[in-house]
Amino acid sequence: MKAIVLEQVEGQTQATIKQADLPAAAAGEVLVDVAWSSLNYKDALAITGKGKIIRNFPMVPGIDFAGVVKHSNDARYTAGQEVVLTGWGVGENHWGGLAEQAQVKSDWLVPLPAGMSSRSAMIIGTAGLTAMLCVMALEDAGITPESGEVVVTGASGGVGSTAVALLHALGYKVAAVTGRESTHDYLLKLGASRIMPRSEFAETRPLEKQIWAGVIDTVGGNVLAKVLAQTNYSGCVAACGLAGGFDLPTTVMPFILRNVRLQGVDSVNAPFARRTAAWARLANDLPESFYQTATTEIALEDAPKVAADFLNNAIQGRTLVKIR
Ligand code: NDP
Repeated sequence: MKAIVLEQVEGQTQATIKQADLPAAAAGEVLVDVAWSSLNYKDALAITGKGKIIRNFPMVPGIDFAGVVKHSNDARYTAGQEVVLTGWGVGENHWGGLAEQAQVKSDWLVPLPAGMSSRSAMIIGTAGLTAMLCVMALEDAGITPESGEVVVTGASGGVGSTAVALLHALGYKVAAVTGRESTHDYLLKLGASRIMPRSEFAETRPLEKQIWAGVIDTVGGNVLAKVLAQTNYSGCVAACGLAGGFDLPTTVMPFILRNVRLQGVDSVNAPFARRTAAWARLANDLPESFYQTATTEIALEDAPKVAADFLNNAIQGRTLVKIR
């Protein structure tokens, strides 16, 4: 099969497009012909070697894929069935989706939701699934469109873009925090009602004026500290990312004086029931316009170059990778 193969050469990660043979199948694994994959922030860290994502080389990256089952020993999956995979360490410590085929545990797969194409599933990808899990976290905390304004940070990235589009479609008033003026029109088109420059989130006091009923934060660091201090009494902050750093320079004040909930969101090990619920919601709630507005389609051969652009904050929306 054709694949991106990552190898270590003199301590540096090297990404090459080449023919590779899948490792021997383990019990309970399903062979999938991959149709589409995507690039996420974590893929960019893995492919460029800028993050310690991969420990065993050679490795095929790609933390998500969608395609058709070629061969299965598990009765739940049959040849010809369309499936989607995100997370579980695929593309990190198990050969991933940036290849013509993938062989994964059947428990890691999700049947493609009714009415969704495999292309749409990879426009959503890990980033979009995470955005949906964040929206569900706000709902679980009782945040409704009537509760007030919701803010999304890192708004023009993959998670952020999907979160803005989903929240808008669900009737929320959405503010978008972005570091780039060039993305303003794009974010308004996705459904943001106002844009706030990231530079306004550099410093914070322990408590600030209450503005947000809910927050979806993809950035961490000072930005997360500031939105926590601005969250309304009994509001909820769903934190899923670290594009701006993994630290959190905050105080306990929002929690003990304003009853604020800080809800972590992980998509990698999300249980099957939560995943399938999120995919069903995505099939239903994400407007058709999102797919046109947020997608850049590239070929497998372009993935290493585009991965570098991610870490220069030069990517907008979702990057779809056509495999076959
Ligand atoms: P993208 O690269 O697509 O988007 C990240 C966005 O963050 C950028 O578009 C930019 O938005 C903003 N940003 C970039 N650099 C900085 C910086 N130095 N300081 C502040 N903001 C910055 O990544 P994804 O959307 O794929 O992922 C976003 C984050 O979520 C990543 O940290 C990723 O690891 C994490 N993630 C977590 C998951 C989980 O399961 N918990 C799953 C998927 C992603 P703008 O230009 O608009 O400011």
